[in-house]
Amino acid sequence: MSPAVDSATYLDRYAHSVMGVFGRPKAVLTRGEGCYVWDADGKRYLDLLAGIAVNVLGHGHPDVVDAVCKQAGSLIHVSNFFATPPQIELAERLLAVAGAPDGSAVFFGNSGTEAIEAAIKLSRRTGRTALVAAEASFHGRTTGALALTHKHAYREPFAPLIPSVTHVPLNDERALRAAVTEDVAALFLEPIQGEAGVVAADAAYLQLARELTTATGTLLILDEVQTGVGRTGTWFAFQQAGIVPDAITVAKGLGGGVPIGALLTFGPTVSGLLTAGQHGSTFGGNPLATAAGLAVLDAIDRDGLLAHATSVGNHLADSVAALGHPLISGVRGVGLLRAIVLSADVAAIVADRALTAGFIINAPTPDALRFAPPLIVTVAQVDEFVAALPQLLNGLGVAS
Ligand SMILES: *Cc1c(COP(=O)(O)O)cnc(C)c1O
Repeated sequence: MSPAVDSATYLDRYAHSVMGVFGRPKAVLTRGEGCYVWDADGKRYLDLLAGIAVNVLGHGHPDVVDAVCKQAGSLIHVSNFFATPPQIELAERLLAVAGAPDGSAVFFGNSGTEAIEAAIKLSRRTGRTALVAAEASFHGRTTGALALTHKHAYREPFAPLIPSVTHVPLNDERALRAAVTEDVAALFLEPIQGEAGVVAADAAYLQLARELTTATGTLLILDEVQTGVGRTGTWFAFQQAGIVPDAITVAKGLGGGVPIGALLTFGPTVSGLLTAGQHGSTFGGNPLATAAGLAVLDAIDRDGLLAHATSVGNHLADSVAALGHPLISGVRGVGLLRAIVLSADVAAIVADRALTAGFIINAPTPDALRFAPPLIVTVAQVDEFVAALPQLLNGLGVAS
């Protein structure tokens, strides 16, 4: 059976209808099941990127499909003039898995960048305006979040952005001590910088960040948009550093592919900073998205996917190291948020070759291949990719 419309035709139509901000798509996908997706020409791919750390239960997971279908049949949307049971239940479940103290609260939006916007507004309620973030950080593309995002190419065309943001080199304790003063409203950090090529903040650095922010009355806001919802083997990455932040932002994996974002504020003081009328969203927390989120949290819990993420992630790191390939200089990251680090700037070529060979990964930086598969990925699927890796690297130059 030949597909009615092939990929080339679709891509031509895309080029004439969809805004060009994403460049040319790598493929046109029509179907998914588990860790596999298929393109419009019928070619199958092993999805080791999961829509950028989003599809934590893979594609077509029966729990998510059931939850979304059932909810769509009863209520999809009501506005925030009204509450719904899935919204309330997801808020309670998120606070529980985050270990949030009494008096904590959740604000729901629709994306990571919206969670960051809410956090920026929260920080303004401290009466201070200065913000500190890390170099190489990524916090989103709306104009507030963009002021925190470090990459100049993303920022410069849209200047001026909100002022008073200082970027400090990650894991530089001296720079952090100098930057976090009593003028600073909030310090924003990613526990692991995904877009920077999976670069972790050291636990000691996060602990220092907690100490300095507490001492100066600065909010410590951890951006867990990429690291949250089990990706690093715990519900949230901050839980591995032994600290409690003032707030976290969550999105990507939370809805299993359905758009949802959340700001979690810890304790009554921080949770009371934004009061009635000071923030809002039409769609945020709607019953469809929150029902999907509940299905995701339930499945992670029931199927032991936190421990699975840790063990399969360690297996990937060990197997890649065991290749002893001259072009591979190491593996970064934790759980199922990993980068295979190359000793030459050929990651984009390798990612393209991988796609041709039927594997979806990406190259967030010139020397890093990001691996952020569904949390249900099997050891056998990881082994398939690792077995193919030497071939994908074949003939590519080693840095001098
Ligand atoms: C993806 C990402 C964002 C932005 O999320 P969107 O849903 O694309 O707006 C923010 N912070 C981090 C750490 C991210 O990885």
